[in-house]
Amino acid sequence: MGNRFQVLDRFADGAQYIGGQCGPGSSGRTQRIVDPASGDTVHRYELAGPADVDAAVAAASAALPGWAGASPAERSDALHRFAAVLTERAGDFARVESLQCGKPIKLCTEFDVPGTIDNTAFFAGAARHLQGQAAGEYSGDHTSYVRREPIGVVGSIAPWNYPLQMAAWKILPAIAAGNTVVLKPAEITPLTSLMFAWAATEAGIPAGVVNVVSGAGHDAGERLVGHPDVAMVSFTGSTAVGKRVAELATSSVKRLHLELGGKAPFLVFDDADPEAAIQGAVAAALINSGQDCTAATRVYVQRPLYEQLREGIADTMAGVRLGDPFDPATDLGPLVSHTQRDRVAGFVDRARAYATVVTGGEAPKNEGAYYLPTLIADAPQNSEIVQSEIFGPVLAILPFDSDDEGIALANDTPYGLAASAWTRDVFRANRATRDLRAGCVWINDHIPIISEMPHGGFGASGFGKDMSSYSFEEYTQVKHVMFDNTAVAAKDWHRTVFGDR
Ligand code: NAD
Repeated sequence: MGNRFQVLDRFADGAQYIGGQCGPGSSGRTQRIVDPASGDTVHRYELAGPADVDAAVAAASAALPGWAGASPAERSDALHRFAAVLTERAGDFARVESLQCGKPIKLCTEFDVPGTIDNTAFFAGAARHLQGQAAGEYSGDHTSYVRREPIGVVGSIAPWNYPLQMAAWKILPAIAAGNTVVLKPAEITPLTSLMFAWAATEAGIPAGVVNVVSGAGHDAGERLVGHPDVAMVSFTGSTAVGKRVAELATSSVKRLHLELGGKAPFLVFDDADPEAAIQGAVAAALINSGQDCTAATRVYVQRPLYEQLREGIADTMAGVRLGDPFDPATDLGPLVSHTQRDRVAGFVDRARAYATVVTGGEAPKNEGAYYLPTLIADAPQNSEIVQSEIFGPVLAILPFDSDDEGIALANDTPYGLAASAWTRDVFRANRATRDLRAGCVWINDHIPIISEMPHGGFGASGFGKDMSSYSFEEYTQVKHVMFDNTAVAAKDWHRTVFGDR
């Protein structure tokens, strides 16, 4: 693998990080990690099986009393040190994330890694800032107050599209609130999650607070979700798998947090700046090769601007530079795997029967899992390409006439993760923020996220929030404490059960 990835030598003993130690998985199956830009195998490891999950949950349970009992200031200090270690290792994180996912290095360097460090710093602050209702004598005879307590061992499951950021989004609010975590990353991209857990230990976060089991979903994943000592399940991934996870978690009455798929609309009104909308649509559709749950996937354009946007988006897409993810000039890397590339190609090939492929629509002839930026027009609203999550560099463009029609079309999928509206009219913008059914609505932009604000969906995109103080609170449980202030044996309310006043 060469010196560029010396950091991976840390995982020579295996890709399970349990109780602060690396070791092999016990499933008896080996997983290859493939560089999707070349098809080369860059790492191999033994997948986790149920016994590894049990060991990780045991380590997290053992670490829980000490970590939950640490003061907010102690947890905050540890998270500040964690942010400092991540900052020192920023280059390694960026390179390994690029390697395992095929992401352009500039995206890793300017988005994935600094976003993760900022999240860590945010939760270091949040750890000291739990909020609740004021204590008081609400009944007259008692003092009531609220405690926010950790929930226990959190079982987290993450997807492959942003492995480092997803590990951060799952682990940070949970541990800031005093929980301990077992994270199962996607089996094809576990490396930066392992590096993240290792960095937590280097920062002085006690062994067992953060554990990583690298295993398959149906095996290690299901064991984690159903484990009797896991108190909460936090899942990010597809809606189909999210439903299965929900069934398993519900049958054992666990707290549940689901961040699922998306099919974000991008709504362009006829007073919008066309150039801004063209640039914005291409950037929002192609970020991370379109493997982004909030990526723009359906551009609805009010009729007077439709032709201009169709042409402008196609021209801009054609100028995007595909190439080696490690070249700083590369705009678009491969998809995460050849399987995902073929899946995306299948959607586009089926769409040829009912729609027009304006640009793209093919894979370049090389070894990598690349797919050209693709614009599809003339697809009916109820067609697969407009309704289903594709998770590739594919954008559909559709016209609309009235504002009501545009909003209705934008809302017409089961998903509700993110949406944007493009207009220079403050009334239209305000109406769009109210009527678009999504957990995030941007005006005249599409994609930016920040640590202070929540990320999470409506409808088939799930429930629960990542990032922000909202997610911090979700990893706590509220306890009402009530103190009697009368010191009398026969309390007034007892007469409703026995005796008289
Ligand atoms: P996926 O649902 O196939 O897998 C997600 C994770 O679940 C993986 O770790 C996988 O191993 C695990 N898994 C699979 N089957 C399981 C089972 N039966 N029990 C327990 N775990 C199981 O998703 P993916 O293909 O890795 O990622 C892409 C999906 O993630 C897209 O749908 C995307 O929209 C979604 N996503 C959502 C958000 C969000 O914030 N809402 C963010 C990123 C990605």
